[in-house]
Amino acid sequence: MPGDEVPEPYVLSENAPIARKWTSPLYEVATLGPLSATEQEKERHRIHSLLLFALMRRYFNGNRNGSRGTYPWREKQREDDGRYAGGDYLGHNIGALAVDGTGEVIDFDFNHNQLFNSSAEHAEARLIRRVFSLTQLYDDWQTRKPSDPPRTRGYSTLLSDVTVYTSLESCAQCSGVMALGQVGQVVYLQRDPGTYHIGNIMWNLTAREEGGGAKAQIKATAPRPIPGSEIGFSYFDELNELYREYYDAVRTKPFHEWKGKKDKTSALTAFLCTDEALGVFERARKEFLGLAKGKLTYPKYKPKKPGAKTNQEVLALAVQFHDYASDVGRRGTPHDL
Ligand SMILES: [Zn+2]
Repeated sequence: MPGDEVPEPYVLSENAPIARKWTSPLYEVATLGPLSATEQEKERHRIHSLLLFALMRRYFNGNRNGSRGTYPWREKQREDDGRYAGGDYLGHNIGALAVDGTGEVIDFDFNHNQLFNSSAEHAEARLIRRVFSLTQLYDDWQTRKPSDPPRTRGYSTLLSDVTVYTSLESCAQCSGVMALGQVGQVVYLQRDPGTYHIGNIMWNLTAREEGGGAKAQIKATAPRPIPGSEIGFSYFDELNELYREYYDAVRTKPFHEWKGKKDKTSALTAFLCTDEALGVFERARKEFLGLAKGKLTYPKYKPKKPGAKTNQEVLALAVQFHDYASDVGRRGTPHDL
């Protein structure tokens, strides 16, 4: 039957990843295989994931609908005058952190939708733009002269060693910006059902094997998404479950009540204002600060890369960054002002 014919993909080579996946079932295109990471690497990822959640706690703001009225899910955030803690709401409680190939934190950013009255001021996209402008400068500003020959490393590869940690699974915009930036991998610490697995799909449709035998490497244009569950980050499952509970219960226990109106939104960004979400960030912050006093399992591990830091050094730098960002960071606006 003519209706059953599969149209040809528009590609120049039948070896293109999308051509090879053309007739695969959708679930296969949207699902990732298991991550091949060692326990040492996972510990390193957890240090930066905990750092990000500590910053989420530091800059938490639940006033999605303003500081007045009643928020049945925010009893613990109520202050003595009846208003809710947090002040002006600048954007949703979603943040991202960029870390370079040696293990040093480059910078962080937050969602700023409200501040800019926009639905596209997402943490990862803002962060990538910021990091690009930093890398153009910090690479060689002290040693480079205008008469020097052009850089050998083009701007499109500046971020290929960068890992982005994001508190929430990335949307199509942010996955796109990270792909354009050639970001190597993105670790996300909560699922977002609204992203329809776009990060996985982009990875699967751009990943190809290069080289042969033992040296074969998977290279992709899009960053490799790594869910928190793959690095042993326990708050990942917990947040997913708490959001599911919120989603089911908000019909009978509204998010917000004001002047007789009940806001029963099941939006994930509303859940991220609740005492439950705050509690997770708070516990992660305590775990992060405890980590600094306790012992790592793999303190001496470091990747085989010039200048790479050990896990112990990475932790010390993460603690320093936490102190700096808690003090002078300004929730995604230019820092240190
Ligand atoms: Zn986004």
